[in-house]
Amino acid sequence: MTTRLYYSDSYLTEFDARVVDRADDGRRVYLDRTAFYPTSGGQPNDTGSLGGAAVRDVIDEGERIAHVLDAPLRGDTVWGRIDWRRRFDHMQQHTGQHLLSAVVADLFGWETVSVHFGADVSTLDVNVPQVTADEVAQAERRANEIVFENRPVAVSYEDAASASGLRKASAREGTLRIVSIEHLDRSACGGTHVRATGEIGPILIGRIDKVRQSARLEFVCGMRAVGRARADHDAVSRLAQVLSAAPNEVGDLVVRQSTRLKEAESRVRQLETELAAHVARERYEAAEPDAAGVRRVVERRTSGSLDELRPLALATISLPRAVFVGAVDAPAPAVLVAASEDSGFDAGSALRAALADAGGRGGGSARLAQGTLPSPAALDRALAAMGADSLGLGARAP
Ligand SMILES: [Zn+2]
Repeated sequence: MTTRLYYSDSYLTEFDARVVDRADDGRRVYLDRTAFYPTSGGQPNDTGSLGGAAVRDVIDEGERIAHVLDAPLRGDTVWGRIDWRRRFDHMQQHTGQHLLSAVVADLFGWETVSVHFGADVSTLDVNVPQVTADEVAQAERRANEIVFENRPVAVSYEDAASASGLRKASAREGTLRIVSIEHLDRSACGGTHVRATGEIGPILIGRIDKVRQSARLEFVCGMRAVGRARADHDAVSRLAQVLSAAPNEVGDLVVRQSTRLKEAESRVRQLETELAAHVARERYEAAEPDAAGVRRVVERRTSGSLDELRPLALATISLPRAVFVGAVDAPAPAVLVAASEDSGFDAGSALRAALADAGGRGGGSARLAQGTLPSPAALDRALAAMGADSLGLGARAP
């Protein structure tokens, strides 16, 4: 059985121990005692070094703790050192979570249903479907007030049968390890915690997501909160510079500009439609009707997309007995065929036949069809197959 030194002293960073067992050619080591915290209760494992080898993983096997090393360990006694920066960061996130869970329970009666400590952010799921921005701000403010009060965080051992006042009843029997924040919280927990709330550092709540029937609050504590605030500040400053505005005006300004952009886009679409109607009429009137009285408008562009040709196609086939053939050469050779209902022309079957000859792909209805071709030369062949090369623009030289 491994003695867990972090239970009694979460600030212990170096320790001596005896090797009691090893596996994996000395890469998996068991000690009589350890300060290395194994992944458990949502808190990630410590890293560090053991007898000169790097500790990659620490696994709780129940009675014993396994240390997974990057190199075989020799000798019967070892000296170990944990990566304190990583551990202290975990202690801050973990104690911050106890504090935040207690604060939202006291303020709003929310119960914490699950927690997760991630490499970047941690999350807290509470048993309400929705959380407002105002509630987030209140909880964050109250949590930070308790940080500034620097309340003691203490560990005690009590019998499960008589332990009272726990925020969440424990399913364990026998002795419970209870972590208390003075006048705020008592929780059964086996993790590592800071000794006073001041060491948690600032607590910042991030985005809120709905997860099934719960709300998930993202949060960061300590240096992570400072880092997040710095990154957010830099991002807003860059935006402010681009927009030539003060940082506190950026939000409103972006909303106003986004509304104006939508209005401008809608105006552009309207003008495109009007222009297409005008051009279609002009091109239609210039086209010679064939024996059946059908006029063909052909539009070939060296570059662009079929979407850009669509307004002209639709405007053309709104005219009587009209067929429209549009093509673009680059970046991808493509063709669009449209026919008015009274033209007697089936755009879909005409296109399919032309594509089959030229090795292209596509399809559509009798009114509107489109396809792509493997090369500009294939596009030439497809247009020729529909007789579009002898009308207006003609095919390019091979
Ligand atoms: Zn804990």
